[in-house]
Amino acid sequence: MTNEKFIGFTMEKTKHIALVAHDGKKKELVEWCDRNKDVLKNHFLCGTGTTAKLIAEKTGLPVKGYCSGPLGGDQQGGIDFLVFLWDPLEAQPHDPDVRALLRIAVVYDIPVANNLATADFLLTSKFMDETYERRVENFNVTIQE
Ligand code: PGA
Repeated sequence: MTNEKFIGFTMEKTKHIALVAHDGKKKELVEWCDRNKDVLKNHFLCGTGTTAKLIAEKTGLPVKGYCSGPLGGDQQGGIDFLVFLWDPLEAQPHDPDVRALLRIAVVYDIPVANNLATADFLLTSKFMDETYERRVENFNVTIQE
């Protein structure tokens, strides 16, 4: 096991992009995907069940669907980029999952967009066309220290 304080995870040029939106935000995300399908088609797309289905229907892009968010789909799959439009105006019965998803994204140094402005900035980043090394804290070393 490595003794480095941080472990590098390489994102390839082709990113694994996860798309998740709460019900009140699904239309926004579907339309954003449609506007950006020329870029998105160069990456692997996945999403929670309903979101994935709606995006695939509207855009024609292949989107791998996991379980629905309330059934645990937001904790499935290996990703390196997340667009997650959570609804600030509605309480969610699976709020602990929402927090868990955002937490795990921070742990694994995953770029996250929670609104469309951030999604626009991320999607036009130069790193979208390059490999990128994420830095993940090696908690084994942290615990030893
Ligand atoms: P859904 O899940 O795409 O299946 O609706 C999203 C969520 O509510 O987490």
